[in-house]
Amino acid sequence: MPGKDQVENVKDELEKRKTKAVALLSGGLDSSLAVRMMMEQGVEVEAIAIKTPFCDFDCGKGCGHRVKKVSAELGIPLKTVYFGDEYLKMLKNPKHGYGSGMNPCIDCRAMMYREAKKHMEKINADFIVTGEVLFQRPMSQNSRALRIIEEETDTTGKVLRPLSAQCLAPTQAEKDCRVIRENLGNIKGRSRKDQLKLAQHFNIEDPPNSAGGCLLTDPAFSKRIKDSFEHAPDIPNLNDVELLKLGRHFRISSDAKLIVGRNMEENEKIKSLSMAGDIILEAIDYVGPTCLLRGKMLDEPLLYASSSIVLRYSDSPKGVKCRVRALVQNKEEEIHVASARDEEIVKLRI
Ligand code: SF4
Repeated sequence: MPGKDQVENVKDELEKRKTKAVALLSGGLDSSLAVRMMMEQGVEVEAIAIKTPFCDFDCGKGCGHRVKKVSAELGIPLKTVYFGDEYLKMLKNPKHGYGSGMNPCIDCRAMMYREAKKHMEKINADFIVTGEVLFQRPMSQNSRALRIIEEETDTTGKVLRPLSAQCLAPTQAEKDCRVIRENLGNIKGRSRKDQLKLAQHFNIEDPPNSAGGCLLTDPAFSKRIKDSFEHAPDIPNLNDVELLKLGRHFRISSDAKLIVGRNMEENEKIKSLSMAGDIILEAIDYVGPTCLLRGKMLDEPLLYASSSIVLRYSDSPKGVKCRVRALVQNKEEEIHVASARDEEIVKLRI
């Protein structure tokens, strides 16, 4: 048993130690304001940024490229974490379901909180900071969802949301007077008016807007990822997911899919993502897209059906048989087929 003096010394040390927090940083405005509010109160902050296959860093709405710049501007250390297969496993069957698209926001945030908590424990920080704003996002930023996420990640009372703190129950850090609650925000809802005022207060020039987004909230992308899960034996692989972000997609059979590039950049990316067993298709005599056929049973009828779609998106004349090059395991084949009619392919489009 430690002596009374030892206990007093530990207490003194704790009191002298600077309050430390781990912030989930996105590169967007809200999380950077949250960090600034903490630093203004003398809290030492370290950041963690999370990237998923569908969203660059946290909920940062496509601003992942900014996260390093933001942490440098803030002058705080940054740890980046990538969720890959484990994210896809969660996405297949999220405990709390999906939002309006395939966005499993509650489970997704829980994964992020767990990672932040791990880092908090590792660096001996006192609490977690997020840029969440109450009622800003329908699925994950309401009081019930925030409570569930905290309960499931064993972070109850340990997550401080400086922008909305006065609208929420006091966290442990506030109760312990490690931060002054009166100086925290009471922002709610989707308007950015108050955040922009705060940005002015912190002299942030050109605050990032909140456009862009997590692909899982996009209805068209959600349809693709849903189709992909329905047809994958377990979970799609990360290469499949990258392909979902490109081109036009056609479900040719329960097992096969054709991806059609929409421009030069996509054509190049599609080629670079091709794997053993894939077939690359291109019109020979006319300008047209690079297309990738992927599946386990790529028989002749599938190859012809796909080639006719390839021609549909090329400059080839309608209704006339033209040549398509099929690159099958480094061997070239030539297929002669007429372009598909729109009414034939519309039902195949994902
Ligand atoms: S929108 Fe939802 S699913 Fe997408 S990153 Fe944010 S919390 Fe996760």
